[in-house]
Amino acid sequence: MEELLNTITAIVTTDCLCDDEDGTRDYCDGCYEWQKEDVFMVIGEWQKLNDITEDDTIRINGTKIGWQSRSGYKDTDILELHSALALDGDFTITWTLDLETKQLRARRSSHDEPMGANFEMEIIKMLPCDVCGEKIQADIHAEELGMCVDCSNRYYDHEGE
Ligand SMILES: [Zn+2]
Ligand SMILES: [Zn+2]
Repeated sequence: MEELLNTITAIVTTDCLCDDEDGTRDYCDGCYEWQKEDVFMVIGEWQKLNDITEDDTIRINGTKIGWQSRSGYKDTDILELHSALALDGDFTITWTLDLETKQLRARRSSHDEPMGANFEMEIIKMLPCDVCGEKIQADIHAEELGMCVDCSNRYYDHEGE
């Protein structure tokens, strides 16, 4: 993990980093696992800075993904985020947390992404509906006085009777 100006960075790569100094080591010590520790730290810092809970949806907005250089998004949560960008083949992912803007970004390079795919994490705050418990976006929760749209409609239908 590297701390530079106001950012923290963690890199994971499927390339083995276990080479010792004279380059004679020919087995892997499971370095991918220890590289992941750094990623957990960066994601953990981001979680603290933004008060992210396990209920919140994390939307990963990506550009230049794959050989077709596509854009798109994928929803995950804080528990699964660390593995959400992994590929089947070889890859390198650089996670960067900007401590000032509290933004988390990632850049992935792989065989199909020699120029690198870029990802920005967006936080969608979620809260359970007070009536049925279904997770809904926090702004809807506030607008509908603590209920999901269905429960809110049902509540006001009854009131009109
Ligand atoms: Zn290794
Ligand atoms: Zn509800």
